[in-house]
Amino acid sequence: MSVLEITDVSKIFGAVRAVDSFSLNVADGELVCLLGPSGSGKSTLLRMVGGFERPSSGRITIDGEEITHLPPEKRPTGMVFQSHALWTHMNVFKNLAFGLKLRRLPAGEIKDKVEAVLELVGLAGYGTRMTHQLSGGQQQRVALARSLVLEPKILLLDEPFASLDQHLRERLREEVRDIQQRLRITTLFVTHGQDEALALADRIVVMRDGKTEQADRPDVVYREPRTPFVAGFIGTMN
Ligand code: ADP
Ligand code: MG
Repeated sequence: MSVLEITDVSKIFGAVRAVDSFSLNVADGELVCLLGPSGSGKSTLLRMVGGFERPSSGRITIDGEEITHLPPEKRPTGMVFQSHALWTHMNVFKNLAFGLKLRRLPAGEIKDKVEAVLELVGLAGYGTRMTHQLSGGQQQRVALARSLVLEPKILLLDEPFASLDQHLRERLREEVRDIQQRLRITTLFVTHGQDEALALADRIVVMRDGKTEQADRPDVVYREPRTPFVAGFIGTMN
């Protein structure tokens, strides 16, 4: 069964159809990469799944329950943005504990969960560091940890490593893949990097003008691009 079902979802901003009758079903534990040129609607789609943007029409369900109009904090989703927006006046531990405190978990349980997640993202022992003292890669790890600590059913990643250098980006995406598989967490990963999508995805959705051009396994997309647009888009990337 699909965990996430996006059915006929559109988002209209004035004259712009950012997302246009888009449908996608994502299986339990699947990692889907949304690939497409700038302005193709990837972020808008992700933000609608995360609850940061209201669909103009259509329906989104998770585990069969409609969440189309729920606020972000009521959804079983966790989102990591391109710019991580960590709280710089709090240390790493407090950044991660914040959401758990809102859930009124006992302090001991919060500590255990935060430490386990820091370990998972390779930041064991970093709890007392202020986030502005961390490198860009470490900050993105904290942002990822802050989502994971709330144990979301769906992980939403919007070009989380776009601002990092090539080497670090490659390392982090391997780590994300590893974490994603260990937790078996259903994931939507937005990127405009073809290499990233190829390395990460169970399935790639190529978007154009808010619609799907092709949705297939990575090897199929690259061997058998269904449209000239897909062929050109894949071909022009390095
Ligand atoms: P992508 O993430 O693929 O680059 P976006 O989802 O950010 O694409 O944008 C899709 C289209 O929607 C673009 O034309 C963009 O300018 C437009 N758009 C996105 N957000 C807004 C907004 N808040 N107001 C108006 N137009 C927007
Ligand atoms: Mg975007």
